[in-house]
Amino acid sequence: MSYTVDVFSIRMAERRVRIQFLVFVRMLRGIFSLVALTTGSGISSMAHDLHFRAIVVDTHDDTTQRLVFDHFDLAARHADGSIDIPRMRDGGVDAVFFSVWTPGTVTGPEAVRRAIDQIRAIRQQVVLHQGDLVLATVAQDVRRARVGGRIAVFMGVEGGHMINSDLGTLRGYASLGVRYMTLTHTVNDEWADASTDEPAHNGLTDFGKLVIREMNRLGMMVDISHVSDKTFYDALSASQAPLIASHSSCRALCDAPRNLTDEMITALAGKGGVIQISFHVGFLSQKFRDAQQIHPELRTQIAAESKRRCGENEACQVIETEKLTRELVAQGKLPRVDWTEIVDHIDHAVKLVGADHVGLGSDFDGASMPYGMEDASHLPKITEALQAKGYSEVGIEKILGGNTLRLIQDVEAIAKKMEGTAE
Ligand SMILES: [Zn+2]
Repeated sequence: MSYTVDVFSIRMAERRVRIQFLVFVRMLRGIFSLVALTTGSGISSMAHDLHFRAIVVDTHDDTTQRLVFDHFDLAARHADGSIDIPRMRDGGVDAVFFSVWTPGTVTGPEAVRRAIDQIRAIRQQVVLHQGDLVLATVAQDVRRARVGGRIAVFMGVEGGHMINSDLGTLRGYASLGVRYMTLTHTVNDEWADASTDEPAHNGLTDFGKLVIREMNRLGMMVDISHVSDKTFYDALSASQAPLIASHSSCRALCDAPRNLTDEMITALAGKGGVIQISFHVGFLSQKFRDAQQIHPELRTQIAAESKRRCGENEACQVIETEKLTRELVAQGKLPRVDWTEIVDHIDHAVKLVGADHVGLGSDFDGASMPYGMEDASHLPKITEALQAKGYSEVGIEKILGGNTLRLIQDVEAIAKKMEGTAE
């Protein structure tokens, strides 16, 4: 009896071990299949494949300030800021527009001198890192760069004050490779009103309209980020080519004067233009903006402290501002803004005008980024989020960069048509 019981219990124990082993094998299989479905960055392999198959273009990065002020090495991976070659590679970036910027209060020959210094700094980086970067001036350059495994680098001048009211200077920038100009920065310039200043010109002056005609002729995109609503509509009717908003979001979701109203987005799209959604927390989140307005002293405090830490070093100021902003978020004084709000803005614009007129203009290294989008390596998350919303692969590819390439080509076609017309 006892022998029988022993044999029985041994068999039962063996069975239990067998079952446990099978459960373990099934668990392992589950883990392996999960690993197959997700990538190192944590996004699904479907999103990863689509993102890295698509041409990804970011139309506004302020990294140039780091090149000028910090002798920044683009090839090294950095722990701060948002852009360097390794992190652009991680984020699948195929083309980037580096911004050439001086504050609107710096005018005249000094603004021109600084712009040329920055153009030189960008061009130097391209020469220094020839294996990774290539200077781009036409849409086809992006496709060629991709075949060669390199990132295409475009340049955009952010602020019309940098031409010092001189079309010759504008032509000079174009011949150095600049492919867009933002008509103003935060303050009015000599010929156009900005969205964050008191109107002085009722939009664009006659000279401003000449600037636009010359930009059309030179094949430079007319960038209406930062301009007043009236300047936007004046530019829209003056330009023969479609316009770009290189880094603007939707005013319907966040009531910043720098963002575009639904009416403006519709008008922009109606003429073939593209709104490139900015990731800046103050343009994404109404909650953040409200908190800033209720407590203006926080902004002053951040500005004063970053100036104390950095002096006139604009690159350092941006990075310190971001750190100080996050400290205030941690203390509960400012609301936390998550990267998913970028997707909300994309979705709003797409619902309004379709997937053909929306793109990405991060403002990396020039603004405060939301949680989860600290640097370019996080960009594939946007692809995954759009897939989860049910966007088609074709639609996502257009938003990631296809629309920008089409816009650049359209601007090139207008320039070709105007070839030989008087300067
Ligand atoms: Zn800007």
